[in-house]
Amino acid sequence: AGQTIGVLGLARSGLAAARLALGRGAHVYASDAGDGEAARAAADQVRALGGDAQTGGHDLAKLAACSRIVLSPGIPPTAAILREPAIQGVPVVPEIELAYEQLDGPVIGITGTNGKTTVTSLTEHLLRAAGIDAVAGGNIGTALSELALREPQPAWNVVECSSFQLGGIDRFTPAIGMLTNLAPDHLDWYADLEDYYADKARLFRNATDASRWILNAEDERAATLIGDAPGTRYWFRAASMPKSDDELGGWMDGRELRIRTEAGRTESLGSADRLRILGPHNIANALAASLAARLAGASAESIAEALPRFEAPPHRLQPVSERGGVLWVNDSKATNVASTRVAIRGMSRPTVLLLGGRHKGEPYTEMAGDLAGRVRTVIAFGEAGAQIAADLSGAVDVQHVEGGFDEVMARAASVARPGDAVLLSPACSSFDMFRNYEERGRRFAELARGEGE
Ligand code: ADP
Repeated sequence: AGQTIGVLGLARSGLAAARLALGRGAHVYASDAGDGEAARAAADQVRALGGDAQTGGHDLAKLAACSRIVLSPGIPPTAAILREPAIQGVPVVPEIELAYEQLDGPVIGITGTNGKTTVTSLTEHLLRAAGIDAVAGGNIGTALSELALREPQPAWNVVECSSFQLGGIDRFTPAIGMLTNLAPDHLDWYADLEDYYADKARLFRNATDASRWILNAEDERAATLIGDAPGTRYWFRAASMPKSDDELGGWMDGRELRIRTEAGRTESLGSADRLRILGPHNIANALAASLAARLAGASAESIAEALPRFEAPPHRLQPVSERGGVLWVNDSKATNVASTRVAIRGMSRPTVLLLGGRHKGEPYTEMAGDLAGRVRTVIAFGEAGAQIAADLSGAVDVQHVEGGFDEVMARAASVARPGDAVLLSPACSSFDMFRNYEERGRRFAELARGEGE
């Protein structure tokens, strides 16, 4: 109350942050470089609540007069506005930091390169099935500020944290924190991988003895990143057994999922074969989410009962059509090499793989070893098409399609044989051809079903 808060960006999170700040008695100046209909409608809402708002640019003097500036997640930390000399003295915080200060309930903070959305929504699902009022937010459709605006607020906030948002936190402290895995990503933004991993490690910044950390035992960088931060560690393992009977965490014994959150007490969550999320990576995701739900109060029985009712979120290894014996699988969310490698390893049919989009900086050669025996043909497309063809043509049949996405799909249909799968798991962002990965996935699904041709 009484502070003047600047808000940069008037999309969903910025608007929610402005509403939250105004609702708590702060003065607000919100601005957006864009002047589209949505931004203008958001600015009108801010004004209607007593705030000051502007679209089509920023008033540097007004921003300079703020005690803090809240950065919307859509604005990269490299944006030119953040380098304006006039605002250098003003602390810039991510939207999750402002929202965190206004939350009543504890936070489960989930970060990592891949699997965040799956684990965040699965954790929410498991907790709700146990009758616990948990709601997912953060980098997952609902801004954390929107959870803070709920009345009553959720008992638990399950928060997907991007590395950009974590990079700017100060007091944000998860009661339960999770690092799903680490792999190269966002090399188009970060100077090097160490900078990217350093932002992820800020999850542990405010660790206390009461903190509980869910970590990937099969990713050796996890132990390095957490270092000697205080708190209890729970290790999940999709393909190995605990090192000792004292190790807390989750693992698979035969096909049986097991967790141990207290010394001397191992609980069963039923067989992994009951899961409707497919592929070995989803064993890791199921174990990690189960640990979070168990630590937040769900019983093992309730988790075991709820796990098989969870389906993959859209655009994540989602089968969308089967026509003429060809299965079409939408994994448009796979926007880095690591997630595409996971998708390929999960395929049980000979596969035609659609790879391409906007290049993010990682070499495609890394996936060459995963292609053998699984991928019949790679169709390379988009801005990265030539690079993909150059990186992979020694390892597999690569066909470079230089036209638009509809031509890519036509080529896939002509190459695929009955019994094959066509997998869109592009390892690239979508921005060269589409507004976002959802639009890319929807077009894939439409054409795969023979609609909209
Ligand atoms: P994020 O929110 O971190 O981008 P998602 O849950 O949306 O993660 O999954 C994105 C893609 O990442 C999936 O389609 C899949 O290919 C891959 N993926 C999911 N979980 C994992 C995991 N545990 N390890 C590696 N890759 C994964």
